[in-house]
Amino acid sequence: MFGLMQDRPLLIQQLIDHAAQNHGDTEIVSRTVEGGIHRYTYTDARVRAKKMAEALLALGIEPGDRIGTLAWNGYRHFELYYGISGMGGVCHTINPRLFPEQIVYIVNHAEDQLLFVDLNLLPMVEKLHSQFKTVRHVVAMTDRAHLPKDVEIPNLLVYEELIEGQPGTYEWPVFDERTASSLCYTSGTTGNPKGVLYSHRSTVLHAYAAALPDTLGISARSVVLPVVPMFHVNAWGLPYTAAMVGAKLVFPGVALDGASLYELFEKEKVSFTAGVPTVWLALLQYMQANKLKLSTVKYAVIGGSAAPPAMIEAFDKEYGVEVLHAWGMSEMSPLGSVNHPKAKHAEWPEKDRFAVRLKQGRPPYGVEMKIVDDAGNELPRDGKAFGDLLVRGPWITNGYFKGEGGNVLRPDRHGGGDWFPTGDVATIDPDGYMQITDRSKDVIKSGGEWISSIDLENAAMAHPAVAEAAVIGVAHPKWDERPLLIVQKKPDAAIDKAALIEFLSTRVAKWWLPDDVQFVEAIPHTATGKILKTRLREDFKAYKLPTA
Ligand code: ADP
Repeated sequence: MFGLMQDRPLLIQQLIDHAAQNHGDTEIVSRTVEGGIHRYTYTDARVRAKKMAEALLALGIEPGDRIGTLAWNGYRHFELYYGISGMGGVCHTINPRLFPEQIVYIVNHAEDQLLFVDLNLLPMVEKLHSQFKTVRHVVAMTDRAHLPKDVEIPNLLVYEELIEGQPGTYEWPVFDERTASSLCYTSGTTGNPKGVLYSHRSTVLHAYAAALPDTLGISARSVVLPVVPMFHVNAWGLPYTAAMVGAKLVFPGVALDGASLYELFEKEKVSFTAGVPTVWLALLQYMQANKLKLSTVKYAVIGGSAAPPAMIEAFDKEYGVEVLHAWGMSEMSPLGSVNHPKAKHAEWPEKDRFAVRLKQGRPPYGVEMKIVDDAGNELPRDGKAFGDLLVRGPWITNGYFKGEGGNVLRPDRHGGGDWFPTGDVATIDPDGYMQITDRSKDVIKSGGEWISSIDLENAAMAHPAVAEAAVIGVAHPKWDERPLLIVQKKPDAAIDKAALIEFLSTRVAKWWLPDDVQFVEAIPHTATGKILKTRLREDFKAYKLPTA
């Protein structure tokens, strides 16, 4: 027997309708690429998103067509999120920091029909456009006055002219909630990038889960500044969750340096922000150097890479900001877990409480996780056993766009739903807190035992002279692999190998101690802000450990 409840599909366009109807005067503030601050409301955003949908239809765009965006966090990008998905198109966000060959590959693989491009990215597109096979028009995300006269892109359109004159009265269509809404390619450190294709249903369910108090916990009283880019996994879903709850949004545009972010935090009274550790490193350094405090930020989500303990402590003790350590991936829309304490932790000694806070957190309802050994046997949830982390749920991918990579799922032994292998190695404790010990390809295998590169990096980054640290495994004749610590010093800081090893020796097991320390000018990062270990392995290919 079926229940007798309405089968209203979950559609992204309903989020902007809801925001405009119930939070119509709530502001969306953007630092624009052209320069200056733009402000308007959810009411204005909805009208312009509808105008965009009308303009797309006028250009002959059909439901299911992919529309590319190469853009920073700003109000026009926000309008595209709703305008494209709302008319049934697929909003394909592209990371401008990828290598040009990767961008060309992604645009062609997705068969993008239009490409919306922020002003400062037009020069890149000028160089690449002749290689795009399906793009009918590039649309400059600006007005005519700001468009340089000499842009050499055929069939170039201008955003403001495109929507100007459209009525903005479009009635959003109602369609199957499983319809594709958006597309994001994983950065693909090995092989070609693969597309993750989100649906309206998965996006709305993810937004509900993200809004929960023990997930991101944002509300109509929040002021949300996503530093995490809208071009990578939909800024962790914040543009949807904010509309769902009616939070004020503040978009930082292209200026992600400490000074620019700090200014927006203070001027716009931001209460909630989210980003990857490298962004926070820069902000903390800026605030420390200029003796500044944060007056309104209450929560900072740190995810995408492990949040170093020293960073969590600095936010907490020096700035009164609670860090929400979060884990996820493109394939998971991306939220998989967020770290909030439980009531019982209030009674725990500070040291034990902190140990829990370092973990990647608990999954919200909707994400199931388990860890397995090499043979696929489930391992105990005792906080000690570690194994491959598998996940499943309604906002987790079933497979990549156009079947790339084949069937990636692992069947459930008990006939339940299939599991997605995350490629991460983790523990899960009896309270549900998951802790990543490593990426399976980064773990260091020493004499048959595993050494966590993340733990070593965290320990090294607790040293005041270390700006950033990376650990890679290097071949060793006796032990198979041994850890090499690679360090970027803070400007003007003095530290040598012996002092660092000495520092680590009280923090990690003796057999974990790196066999050597190498200092570099800068630790390289991926286009999504992770330490680029493939590059480091390449850079140190000829390197021999002194112990080898
Ligand atoms: P990419 O496109 O680079 O794969 P993702 O954002 O999808 O970008 O990367 C997901 C991976 O990032 C995870 O599988 C995990 O290894 C790593 N990651 C994300 N958050 C954390 C975290 N809090 N701690 C440790 N690793 C993390």
